[in-house]
Amino acid sequence: MDVKIQLSKWSKKRPQFIIAIILFSGIILIASTVPKKTSKGVITRVVIDAGHGGKDPGNLGTGRNKVTEKTIALNVSLKVGAYIKEAFPDVEVYYTRDDDTFIPLHERTKFANTKDADLFISIHCDAFTRESAKGTGTYVMGAAKTEANLRMAQKENKAMLLEENLDENYGGFDPNSPEGLIELSLRQNAHIHQSLKFAKEVQDQMRDRVGRIDRGVRQAPYWVISFTTMPSVLVELGFLTNKEEEDFLISDQGQDYTASAIYRAFKTYKTTMEILDEAQPEKVENDKSKEAIQPNSETNTPKGVIFKVQLLSSSAKVELKPGNFKGLENVIEYEDNGMYKYLYGSTSTYEGAKNLQKGARQSGYKGAFVVAFDEHNNRIALEKALKLTN
Ligand SMILES: [Zn+2]
Repeated sequence: MDVKIQLSKWSKKRPQFIIAIILFSGIILIASTVPKKTSKGVITRVVIDAGHGGKDPGNLGTGRNKVTEKTIALNVSLKVGAYIKEAFPDVEVYYTRDDDTFIPLHERTKFANTKDADLFISIHCDAFTRESAKGTGTYVMGAAKTEANLRMAQKENKAMLLEENLDENYGGFDPNSPEGLIELSLRQNAHIHQSLKFAKEVQDQMRDRVGRIDRGVRQAPYWVISFTTMPSVLVELGFLTNKEEEDFLISDQGQDYTASAIYRAFKTYKTTMEILDEAQPEKVENDKSKEAIQPNSETNTPKGVIFKVQLLSSSAKVELKPGNFKGLENVIEYEDNGMYKYLYGSTSTYEGAKNLQKGARQSGYKGAFVVAFDEHNNRIALEKALKLTN
């Protein structure tokens, strides 16, 4: 009831809202933080991706109901699409699935890329071992900051284990391997700024208009938003392992409200992007040749992070000469908790460090591994270093 009142207030707030957008855009332009224009600002095509389907039920929730994640994801997806079509007849809406069918993850991304969509919205529901976990979270691609985010992405990526020809379709990516996830985290998307912008709109709407607990915009290596070539987000509507949220998300009203929140986020995003596009002094013709991976513009200024390869750890000091390190040069020593650690090479990128590690392993240091240091030469977690250089 409470939510309904808020919803009806929405239309009355519209003029102020448009003014707010214009002011907001002005501030952005003055601050000249407008992301480099990499796609057309006009949003005409959207792909909505209902998670799971067919033989993949998604998460089973509390187990009190027959309805699982796949059904809620589909219902909400179809509602989002219907709202968009109704309000914007010129926008083409495509679904990766519009019925209870199993669609491999790689086909979902391929579908969106083939359609040359301007926005990709993947819809899922969360689950956790503790019933108390609840709230809505919206994800964009990137390295996970927390174990929980990583765990969630890993869980969703495992849908591919139900597919055939894994090697062929995923280039040997193993959803169970931590290294695979790190490499997935390193993928760059030219549209990360737009993805973050849309993700924030979704979270704002879910919190302010539907009263959902805001778990924030997060980054995690979800496969399905890492291989699309347009702004892409994955919405975890809520936790089906929480009774209250499961009841809400199974209800028609809950599905309506969450779908309309995503629709309103779309409307705001579309309006903002088009105002920004209008404000561009030079119109750049889009040649449709979007690329999945762009070189990371920040790679050259990695905020002081240095990657090295640890060869060995010893309680006794080892003289620093190549003869003592299987011929490897540029080895340095540092003391840590009474142990002498010997590090090889130095590079500002993780890719570079992986090459150094390969060299060290070929020289005979089978257990050589990559370590990272911050600008003050303090050892930092690899995950944090990737975050800083990403
Ligand atoms: Zn899911």
